[in-house]
Parts: sequence; structure tokens; C-alpha cells
Amino acid sequence: MKAHLVTYGCQMNEYDTHVVESQLVALGVELVKAVEEADFVLVNTCAVRGKPVDKVRAVLGNLRKTKRERGLLVGMMGCLAQLEEGQEIAKKYDVDILLGPGALLDIGAALESNKRFWSMAFKDDIHDFVPPAPQNKLSAHLTIQRGCDHHCTYCIVPETRGPQVSRHPDLILRELDSLVEAGALEVTLLGQNVNSYGKDQTGYPDFGDLLRMVGKSGIPRIKFTTSHPMDFSDNIIEAIAETPNVCKFIHLPVQSGSNKVLKQMGREYTREWYLERIEKMRSLIPRLFISTDIIVGFPNETEDDFLETVSLYDAVQYDSAFMFIYSARPGTPSYKHFADMPKEIKTERLNRLIERQKHWSQLKNSRLIGQEVECLIRGAAYEPSFMEGHTEGNHPVLLPVAQAPVPGIYRALVEHATPHMLFGKVTEVVKQAEFMPMQLHSPVFSSLDL
Ligand code: SF4
Repeated sequence: MKAHLVTYGCQMNEYDTHVVESQLVALGVELVKAVEEADFVLVNTCAVRGKPVDKVRAVLGNLRKTKRERGLLVGMMGCLAQLEEGQEIAKKYDVDILLGPGALLDIGAALESNKRFWSMAFKDDIHDFVPPAPQNKLSAHLTIQRGCDHHCTYCIVPETRGPQVSRHPDLILRELDSLVEAGALEVTLLGQNVNSYGKDQTGYPDFGDLLRMVGKSGIPRIKFTTSHPMDFSDNIIEAIAETPNVCKFIHLPVQSGSNKVLKQMGREYTREWYLERIEKMRSLIPRLFISTDIIVGFPNETEDDFLETVSLYDAVQYDSAFMFIYSARPGTPSYKHFADMPKEIKTERLNRLIERQKHWSQLKNSRLIGQEVECLIRGAAYEPSFMEGHTEGNHPVLLPVAQAPVPGIYRALVEHATPHMLFGKVTEVVKQAEFMPMQLHSPVFSSLDL
């Protein structure tokens, strides 16, 4: 059998695709790069906003046509598969195999069943599963927990991924060792809310101590996403400050700058609490890079509430941000209880916030001109005379191919900056990769948190 997987959504979905692909390979299935070559196409879905759901409908529509023309096994996995909305879609488009995020290891049973196989159970086996390391990947993902115990009113994740379950630290370290052995130079620890790692188990380290343990692995760069301001303890901040190979970069979603809106979102913190956490981080971690997520146009957000988000943005001076207009998702409390506002208002506010973001990103990136950054170069850029990658602060960066001919870690002097890109000159070769990475541009990506 030849299988092709299509992945939408966040890094967690990319990791889950790897989990299922490794299962398929173990079953003797050949992975192919295009739908046209495949007997089995599996779509890993996202349910975070309306747009990714529309994309899934379009893809399944095309696959149903192909199925009628030449026969094809069609599968659906990921967050949308866990929802009634997704199962309605699966029924309509004649999906054969459907696996919720908790039932990924049922792929073998599904293929053996030779009939329609749908599984939405949250099974424990997924937490103990250690996939083989992906080959030829410099920057790898490592899931440390699944699910979430928060209940933000706009968020569908607690429905689709269930309650928080932290993986055993020994399994995390074993998987990390296999990534290091396979040549990874950077690992991103993944979870819906990594800061609360271990809180659902007895005797597990907290996230700060886990970071210290991961730091001992010797992997050159460690990142993590996503964080929740409510659980960002002093111990985590200290662990970041004192562990050299933990990148001094924090992605800390704020979502809104208005206490009224934060309350309606169920975010459990106030603007003041958030700003105090930022201040604490900056007091202990020099040269810290910070990004965030913001939802604009949440129900009942007034112009004044929105201006509080803008003023918070100016107060923090983020290096970058993911910004979205509110998307009312069926199955969420906000969908049930709050009326959505006209799209024009949301879009107009989003455009204003994007201008603030561009302003600060340009200013912050320009301040790096003349300074050194550490770059993980992953491969050739669109522009052939450059290699592309990202810094320890997650800035996209371009280096001349003549100075950085192969992927790896380089120190570089920043010579030019735009709001979205740094251009550098190599000052030191830190570590070059022993292989040429697979593909550079991964499928559709979005921020892990909503
Ligand atoms: S937004 Fe993040 S923290 Fe809140 S419920 Fe969703 S996944 Fe959990």
C-alpha cells in the first residue's frame, strides 16, 4: 500500500502526522509525496477556526471524486475528526478511516479491518508511545503533554484533545536522545500549555525542572510552545535564565489587553498579572525575545477594549505576533453565549493592530543591526543566493549561501532588517549538519495556541 498524509494546523498536528507515518512504515506501508501516487490518503485536520475546516471540506470533496474515479482509501484524523461537525463532514464525503487525536495508534487496526473504521476514544497508549526519530530533520518537535485543563471560552481544544496528560519524563528524555542521535540541532517541546507540565501527575518534575533535565541532553537549542501566563512560574523563568541551551525566546499568548474581554474569554489572568510576568522575565533574562497571540473582535469588545489591546502591545513591544479575528466555533462556550460582531469591524481592528505590529517588529529588528545572532540554517531560500533559517529569537533570517553553504548553526552579524526578516553576515560556523535536510517549507502552519 502507498499512503500520503496531508497536514493542516499546528506543530502538534505535524508531530501527530509523524507518529502515524512511523506506524504506517512499521506496517510496511510506503509513504509517497503526492495524492496521485497513493492508494490511501489521510488528512490531518484542524478545527481552531472556520477557515481550516473549509479547507478540509474542499480536500475531502476532491478525494471523494478521485475515489469514485479510481478507488481510494480516505482517512481523516486530528481535531476536526473528534467533533460532531467533523464526523458530519466525514459521513458526507464518505471517509473510510477516522481517528481522533487520542486514537492515533489505532491506524493498524483500521487498515486491518478492511471496512469503515472510526475511533474517537482518548487512549492511554499514545502517551507512552515513543516514535522513531524523523530522519534528516535539524529542527524537531517533541510532544511533552497532550490535552488542556484550561477552558478558554473561544477554544475547541479541550473538546478535541481532552484533559491534560503529561508524558513521563523518562520517555521524553529517551525520545530526545533519539532526536540528538539522528542529528537534530534544535528541539521544540510541544504542548497546549507546557507551563503546567507535570501538574496532572504525582512525582513528576514541573516544567522548569523538566527544562533543566532537557538542557543536560546537550542538544544545542531548546524551544517550547505554547505557554499560558497563568502557569508561567518563577521556577520556569529561572530555568530559562540559567540553562544555556534554552533559547531566550518566549511565545506568551495574551489574546487581549482588556480585563473585561480577558474575563469573557475565561483566560484567568488580568492585564496587570500578564505585564508583571513579562517584567519578571525581562528582569531575569537579558536580551529576551517575546512573541504573542491576539484575538481581535471578541464578542462585546468595544473600541476602548480594543485600544487596551493596542496599548498593551505598545507596553510589551513584542518582537512578533500571531493575530487573528475572532472565529465563532460550534461547541465552544463563546459560540453558545455571545453574539459575534460584524466581520468588517473585526477586520478593520485587525488591520490597525497589524500596523502596530509592523511598527514594533521593524523597530525591534532594526535594533539588532550591528549585533550578533545565532541562526539555525535549514536549507536553501527561495532566493538562490541565500540560505534561510531562524534565530534563537525565532526571527526568520537569510545568510549568503557563499558563507553558509550547508545547513547548521552559524553566528551572524545582522546587517539589514525588515519587519519580517533579518539579513546577516556569518561571523562563526558553530555546527554544520551532517546531512541535507528534507524539505524546507512545511505544510500549512499556525500558532499552536488558538
Ligand atoms: S486557548 Fe490554549 S489554554 Fe485555552 S483552552 Fe485552548 S488550548 Fe487550552
